[in-house]
Amino acid sequence: MYSIRAGSVERGLTGEIIKRFEQRGYKLAAIKILKAPETLLKAHYADLAGKPFFPHLMAYMQSGPVVAMVWEGKEAVKTGRVMLGATNPLASAPGTIRGDYSIDIGHNIVHGSDSVESANKEIGLWFPEGVVEYTRPHVDALIYE
Ligand code: UDP
Ligand code: MG
Repeated sequence: MYSIRAGSVERGLTGEIIKRFEQRGYKLAAIKILKAPETLLKAHYADLAGKPFFPHLMAYMQSGPVVAMVWEGKEAVKTGRVMLGATNPLASAPGTIRGDYSIDIGHNIVHGSDSVESANKEIGLWFPEGVVEYTRPHVDALIYE
């Protein structure tokens, strides 16, 4: 589960970020733009509640709309984290989303689930209506061997 964060939507990076996952071959299973409610963000970031940067993180995530997405495919969580880059953008390689579009850790553009377990938890929080199931017979045959 990914969310393009508030400042990134304002900066016009939404299409650029979506494009990277599409071009890689991942399948878009859910997407929406929303102003994330505080209750949702608190559940999403429950494990970070005691951290000193938590208030800033909550303010950043509520400073405007975010775009929540679910991308599916082989190793989508692990590879997605590589595509995002390191948590601190200054340590992110050029070519990664954070490495190409951000500088400060608190404004690092995009969230990505860190494990399949957290992805499933986060998909339940952000998409209680469920994701869209469909097949891409021709495309998948060209992407996967
Ligand atoms: N964060 C921060 N300062 C820190 C660590 C994290 O502002 O010292 C922010 C940063 O935006 C990060 C988010 O909190 O993306 C969630 O932290 P996490 O450790 O889950 O990093 P991520 O999984 O996003 O790479
Ligand atoms: Mg995280």
